[in-house]
Amino acid sequence: MLIGVVGGGQLGQMLGLAGIAIGHRFRFLDPDPACPAAAVGEVVAGAFDDPDAIARFAHGLDRATFEFENVPAATLGAIAERAPLAPGVMSLRTAQDRILEKEFFRAHGLRVQGFEAVDSEAGVAAACGRVGVPGVLKTRSMGYDGKGQAVVRSAADVPAAWAAVGRVPCIYEAFVPFTSEASVVAVRSSDGDVRAYPLCANEHRGGILHRTVAPAPGVDPDIAREAERATCRVLAALGHVGVMAIEFFVTPEGLVANEMAPRVHNSGHWTIEGALTSQFENHVRAVAGEPLGSTEARGFAGMINLVGRMPPRERLLSVPGAHLHDYGKRARAGRKLGHVNVCAPDLRVRDAQMAVLEAIVARGEG
Ligand code: AMP
Repeated sequence: MLIGVVGGGQLGQMLGLAGIAIGHRFRFLDPDPACPAAAVGEVVAGAFDDPDAIARFAHGLDRATFEFENVPAATLGAIAERAPLAPGVMSLRTAQDRILEKEFFRAHGLRVQGFEAVDSEAGVAAACGRVGVPGVLKTRSMGYDGKGQAVVRSAADVPAAWAAVGRVPCIYEAFVPFTSEASVVAVRSSDGDVRAYPLCANEHRGGILHRTVAPAPGVDPDIAREAERATCRVLAALGHVGVMAIEFFVTPEGLVANEMAPRVHNSGHWTIEGALTSQFENHVRAVAGEPLGSTEARGFAGMINLVGRMPPRERLLSVPGAHLHDYGKRARAGRKLGHVNVCAPDLRVRDAQMAVLEAIVARGEG
C-alpha cells in the first residue's frame, strides 16, 4: 500500500523504516523537502495548510495518517476525503483539547487531578481558590514539551502566569507531587483488536524526554496492568485506529493520567528492539487495516534521547548491545537528533549498558 504521513520528522522516518520492511511505500507532507523522512519515501514539500500541496500529497494514497497532532483540522478533512485516514477525528479532537482529554480520562475510569477550564485572569484566580495552589496553567491546545505552561505557586503568581501562557483559553490543574512519570503506549487495529506495551518510566530534562525504561521499575504490577487496561479502554472508546500513548504521574496513591498523544510516541521508541513488534510497525499495520503484532517486551529495555548535540557515533556504536537511531537532523539546542536503545534479558545488564551510554551522552551534549 502507499501510505501518506502528514509530517516528515523522525516519527515519519521510523514509520517508513518499519513499514517498508513489511511491504508498504510512503509519501510525506512536510514543509522541508530534506526532512528526516525523505530518507524513506517521497516528500511533497509544502505548508500543512497549502491546498495544492495537500492535493498532490493525497492523490493516489491507499491510506493516510499523521505523525503529530497539531495538524489543521481542515487539512485532515481534505485528506480524509481522498484516502482512509487513521487515527480519526474523535481521537484528534480529544487529544487537542486538554479539557476534553481529562474529561474523557475521567469518564473511562482513569484518575485525574483537579482541574478547571479558564479563559480570563479572574477565572484563573477563581480556579486557584477552588482547585488549590500550587497548580499549573496550560494552554488548552497546541502545547508540547512543556511549552505554553506556567506554574502558579500562590495567587500572586496569577497575572504573570496568565501573561506567560499568552492570555488564551487554558486549563488550570492541581500540581501533582509525583514521584516519577510513566506512560503506556497502546495500539488498536481497525477491527478493534487492542494491545498495550508494558508501562514504561520516563525521565524528562528541561521539559524534554531524556530517557525511558521498560517495564517501569518500582510500580506495583497490579497498578501497571490497570494502567495498561485503562489505556486500552480509552483507545476502544475513541474508536482509535493506530498507536496512542497516555502519560501518567506516579504517586504514592497510584497513577494520575496527564495527557494523551494520538500517534507514535517518544516514550515508545524502546519498542524498536525491545518489543516483539515495534510501535512503528504496529501503527502501520493498524493504519493499513492489517493484523497487529505482539506488544510483548523482549526483556528489559531502555532508551536515551540524543538532544542538542550528537555524541561521537563510534563511542555509541561500540557499546555492546546498543542500537543507535540517528535521524539525520542538523544539530540545534533542544532538538531531538536521535536516540539509542538497549535491550537485555537481565535487569542489571540493561542498567549497566544504560550507565555507559549516559556517560557518553553526558560528555557529548553541549
Ligand atoms: P505536559 O505538557 O502536560 O506533558 O507537561 C510537561 C511536564 O510538566 C510533565 O511531564 C511534568 O513533568 C510537568 N507537569 C505538567 N503538569 C503537571 C502537574 N499538574 N503537576 C506536576 N507537574 C506537571
